[in-house]
Amino acid sequence: MGEFELIRQHFQRPGVKLPQDVVLGVGDDGALLRPEPGHELAISTDMLVQERHFFASVDAAALGHKALAVNLSDLAAMGARPLGFTLALALPKADEAWLAAFAKGLFSLADAHACPLVGGDTTRGPLNICITVFGQVRAGRAPRRSAARAGDDLYVSGRTGEARLALEHQRGTAWATGAVGADLRERLERPTPRNALGMALAAVDGMHAAIDLSDGLVGDLGHILAASRVGADIELATLPVAPALVALPEAERLECLLAGGDDYELLFTADPAVRDAVQEAARASATPVTRIGRIKAGASELQLLDAQGQPVSLRVQGFDHFA
Ligand code: ADP
Ligand code: MG
Repeated sequence: MGEFELIRQHFQRPGVKLPQDVVLGVGDDGALLRPEPGHELAISTDMLVQERHFFASVDAAALGHKALAVNLSDLAAMGARPLGFTLALALPKADEAWLAAFAKGLFSLADAHACPLVGGDTTRGPLNICITVFGQVRAGRAPRRSAARAGDDLYVSGRTGEARLALEHQRGTAWATGAVGADLRERLERPTPRNALGMALAAVDGMHAAIDLSDGLVGDLGHILAASRVGADIELATLPVAPALVALPEAERLECLLAGGDDYELLFTADPAVRDAVQEAARASATPVTRIGRIKAGASELQLLDAQGQPVSLRVQGFDHFA
């Protein structure tokens, strides 16, 4: 099968109607998108490389899902509605069954988000998947990393740590024993990008900074703190804990919660005056949101607090912290 045949068979979908914002999709020298007036174009790219981001053994459908999910998650953090995406694919060989499964996982998530594939590039080479997503956000409304203010509430969507626990299971790590539920593996292999929440939050006046969690809560919070030149308190007792994490030894539980990675939840800050509007955005998007601390003055000063409000001394990967 040649390159063009491969594209036609697996990535062109003549029967599928394109949304209004896509003037031209796959098949020409370029795609044409038409964002609504008064909006900005939000663009994000993420690459998945074999052995670094996934293993050859991973299910192709799950890989198709994840490659798009991590990109949609970036749009969610920007509060943008997805318009479409491009796919640059390097393949060692044209494996029919693999391609069909990959495309299935990819398109089922794309369809769920009304985010069509509008172009790409295909070449032979070590397996490498690079997706660029395009979205639109009302001009001036994207929640930037640099927008956190002292006094803001700090929130996280969903819960963190499950993907990390699933990964440690796969690695055969001693503390990650016991049965791995299918839902735990799903959290690692088929993350749910929080686009509905991100879009709802971008409409809230008083919503300030946001980031999506790919490298661990504390490390990614560090990006907001650095960009906004502020500090933060996290109340450890308020962190949502998944059932699978409850029985872990405390150090490992905190490692998963605070430095897990691959969570694809949203971490964001908002003025305390808009707590009701934030919870309404959570309800409207059917995405739980938990207040886990606050932003304070003091550039990049992060304090972890115990249930009594006392500072906890803890070294968390991605953010060296000493009380
Ligand atoms: P060009 O030579 O003009 O760069 P290509 O021959 O690379 O065009 O691609 C032909 C068409 O197929 C283009 O519209 C391109 O966007 C699309 N395409 C190529 N690879 C992919 C892919 N993996 N997924 C979706 N569209 C693709
Ligand atoms: Mg061309």
